[in-house]
Amino acid sequence: MTTPARRQYLRIKKEHQDAILLFRMGDFYETFDDDARVISRELEIALTSREFGAGSRVPLAGIPYHALEPYLARLIRQGYKVAICEQTSDPAKSRGLVDREVVRVVTPGTIVEETLLDGKSNNYLTAAVLDGDLAGIAYADITTGEFATTQTSAAELAVELVRLEPAELLVIDESTSVDVGRDTTVAPIGPEPFDLDWATESLQRHFKVTSLEAFGCDRLPLARKGCGRDYRLSDYHSGADIGAASHSATSMGGRTLRSWVGHPLLDLEELQKRQGAVTWFHRSGLRRERVIALLDTVSDIQRLLNRVRAFGATPRDLVSLAESLEAGPHMKGILDADDDAQAVEFISNGIRDTSEVVALIRSAIADDPPVSPGDGRVIRPGFSSDMDTTRETTLNAQQYIANLESRERERTGIKSLKVGYNKVFGYYIEVTNSNLGAVPDDYVRRQTLVGGERYITPEMKEYESRVLNAQDRMATLETELFRSVCAQVAEHTGAISETAEAIALIDVFCSLADVASMHDYVKPELSESDAIVIRQGRHPVVERVLDAGDFVPNDTELDCSESQLAIVTGPNMAGKSTFIRQVAILVLMAQIGSFVPAESASMGLVDRIFSRVGLQDDLALGQSTFMVEMVETASILNHATNRSLIILDEIGRGTSTYDGLAIARAVAEYIHSHPRLGCKTLFATHYHELTQLADSLPRARNFNVAVSEEQGRIVFLRRIVPGGADRSYVLSDLESLDTNVARAARRNAGGNHPAQLALIPMSSPALDALREIDVSSITPIEAINKLYELQERD
Ligand code: ADP
Repeated sequence: MTTPARRQYLRIKKEHQDAILLFRMGDFYETFDDDARVISRELEIALTSREFGAGSRVPLAGIPYHALEPYLARLIRQGYKVAICEQTSDPAKSRGLVDREVVRVVTPGTIVEETLLDGKSNNYLTAAVLDGDLAGIAYADITTGEFATTQTSAAELAVELVRLEPAELLVIDESTSVDVGRDTTVAPIGPEPFDLDWATESLQRHFKVTSLEAFGCDRLPLARKGCGRDYRLSDYHSGADIGAASHSATSMGGRTLRSWVGHPLLDLEELQKRQGAVTWFHRSGLRRERVIALLDTVSDIQRLLNRVRAFGATPRDLVSLAESLEAGPHMKGILDADDDAQAVEFISNGIRDTSEVVALIRSAIADDPPVSPGDGRVIRPGFSSDMDTTRETTLNAQQYIANLESRERERTGIKSLKVGYNKVFGYYIEVTNSNLGAVPDDYVRRQTLVGGERYITPEMKEYESRVLNAQDRMATLETELFRSVCAQVAEHTGAISETAEAIALIDVFCSLADVASMHDYVKPELSESDAIVIRQGRHPVVERVLDAGDFVPNDTELDCSESQLAIVTGPNMAGKSTFIRQVAILVLMAQIGSFVPAESASMGLVDRIFSRVGLQDDLALGQSTFMVEMVETASILNHATNRSLIILDEIGRGTSTYDGLAIARAVAEYIHSHPRLGCKTLFATHYHELTQLADSLPRARNFNVAVSEEQGRIVFLRRIVPGGADRSYVLSDLESLDTNVARAARRNAGGNHPAQLALIPMSSPALDALREIDVSSITPIEAINKLYELQERD
């Protein structure tokens, strides 16, 4: 025999079998059966049981309703899908069973709670579909309303997924093999949503259009399947992170900057517009200071707005939305005031007049409201006369009850008379046995206790029901008013989100300008040429971790006709990686519109930046790393064009010396000579042999990181100079190994004086053995072993 509640539960659960169902019962979200076991295990909460009808007990675990968010966060983080079932009819009014309904299904890609989100990054929900070598991908951030889709190659899909770092990836079933990061939940959802007709129709319905042509994806069936606006990957390129340059004050600015870094531009005009805005902020520190002070008062408008629209906003959200929007006109004032306001006009135009929304919120909502409406403290007095009257009635009635005790004590002369409250009788008056004689006639007895009696009076019952009615009414009224304010605010979505975007832009431009001014960056000259010329460029991150003045700037000249392939040689730790990465970062910075750390720079735009930078320890990581390296290198060779920039660091390091050298050489030759490629490339290597490439490849140039000797020790000068590295310095690799073996090796190699190598007697068997070693291709470990052997021999 099951109870109606149990049947209701089972019916709802049947529709949400793949989710944990949180079933609201009074002050708790209860879970039953297997769900209860799961959450008790995952959330470390007590597993009990509950009787549903005679003889049927089921496992139960509950979460207090007010503690939902943290628990929800943990479940979502652990990859669970959670369905939240609320009571949708008022328990006080319903006879029998309360109505219940699932109001939200929460997955990692569909959370809106601020506390569960990382403010500075997007929270992408993605969907991917594969068809042979082609892939469709769509992504949406429901917290910001961003949505895009595209069709690409299966290989690019992986790159996109790395860039987007989605919270959740929807696929048809487990057979869709895609690689995702650890923080991405993969959710198989079955084939229906991926059906082309179904998907096309829902896109048309959503965007209220009859054709998807205008969005550019009418001929991209997979994009539609995966579900938008088309963003074509060729408009952008992937790139390294310049997070270090991000000083953005707001989460919105942080997201915008991150998205720019992920999508550098190829559009010269747009870039120059951005440069113009950075320049405008760069020109005046005062301007920046004023803007930053204003930005400090701005919350995440996009996310607040989306919560308002989803009716998930708290009264406090509305207040911070108003406060944030109030910064708008002040910012506009700063942008417009100047003579050269033209440079920032496009931003200023985005700051829309939201005074009506602000006024509405300010007049409707109290300054420091509680977290939810209901007790009369959310709606500001004066906003609604209905509300004011109800509030007044409540107060009066409450006042009456509050004064009841002293009034009745006085009237009856019973000093020990008490007013109390319980759930059964409501308010009552309690008189002890010794005073029963003084009880007035209008007292009605309700309950006899051991030591006394409890009474009510008709008048106090009247007030009591007034209090209760008024409180009830107030709860309903305030909730209604609050929702209606939210609905009115939502009507201004367009103006609010445009303003939010403009403020995000202000934040980004201002912070780019601030960094540029603080660290002496210059505006790069951008062009459609194929040349990159950087004078005295610096690595923006490395320069900051070093003491001021310790970073050695370097020049770069790359183009497709003369100096296309720069082969940078030098011993370990000389500064090769830093240099080649620096070039890539500066190009990337230039192509998001930022200034760059250099004395001057002129950059021909590149269509993509490819980098394959190995770990220092690739050598020790073995086969799998080697495979990764080869797969990534192959992908670069397949996707680069003659307008790309490639940086390759120690290609071939993950295998034996001989194979590694062969691979490195083949890759360099291919890039240099393949008709589709021939693109600007920086190639850092410790393989000295590669310097010979410059003899056979007309556009290859050798560079090395200069070193000098002071008192017999090698000093890295960090200066990139033309020419191949001096092979004798390869031994300096040993300097970094502070082991007995290494010390022995140094001793054998002539004490602390590498230069004395030549003083070893000409006719030593050790020397002959040394001569046989191909120093430039030997790994440090092999060298040490060799030296051991030599020591043993003598
Ligand atoms: P390599 O790739 O040749 O092994 P790295 O590029 O990793 O060497 O550089 C090693 C260290 O040298 C870096 O961690 C940095 O501290 C320092 N360094 C590199 N380039 C410079 C520079 N231009 N100026 C000052 N220090 C540098």
